[in-house]
Amino acid sequence: MTRIVLATRNAGKITELRRILAGFEVVGLEEYPDAPEVAETEPTFAGNALLKARAIAACTGLPAVADDSGLCVDALNGMPGVLSARWSGRFGDAAGDKDRANLELVLDQLADVAPERRGAHFACAAALALPDGTERVVEGRMRGRIIDAPRGTGGFGYDPIFVPDGESRTLAELSPEEKSAISHRGKAFGGLAPIIGELLTGKTA
Ligand code: IMP
Repeated sequence: MTRIVLATRNAGKITELRRILAGFEVVGLEEYPDAPEVAETEPTFAGNALLKARAIAACTGLPAVADDSGLCVDALNGMPGVLSARWSGRFGDAAGDKDRANLELVLDQLADVAPERRGAHFACAAALALPDGTERVVEGRMRGRIIDAPRGTGGFGYDPIFVPDGESRTLAELSPEEKSAISHRGKAFGGLAPIIGELLTGKTA
């Protein structure tokens, strides 16, 4: 079975990608302790996803997949965008505290913004890099709006303040399956999966 390295140590992302890429052996970076920590220095999601996939393919000699994602708020001119993970600047805190600080900052910034101007989307770029230099990237988006106060206990990051179009619940109130059926990450990896299938096995996955 062809092995694919997913450029993450996040167990949730590995489980999700294993589901989407059934037929391949998907492993995370915990199997490659010497893999470099790649700084996300590019101004776009696609640029950062490619940086990470390229570095991991070069270091492992195996096909590598990476993603980069974030929340883009219309009234903030598309920010936090690629800065989503560090929007409140609180690096080094426990993940839960950092997520909370990030979403509270966005809520404060939107405090005076009327409901009809609270549109936003999540974006995700999923990238594949092969050791021979072949590269592909697919982007997925999920539209919705930012509510006034957090709701729900599931998910992570900005999930408690984002209601997807066509829903009344926040992402933090959806089940993991409901979320990945409509999510930016589900769409990006869903689009990349058949490309990986074609490139690595010569037929559609
Ligand atoms: P990364 O793609 O793992 O670097 O994540 C970037 C940041 O974007 C995360 O730390 C979250 O703050 C935010 N983010 C990305 N996807 C989601 C999502 O599905 N829900 C909530 N927040 C997200």
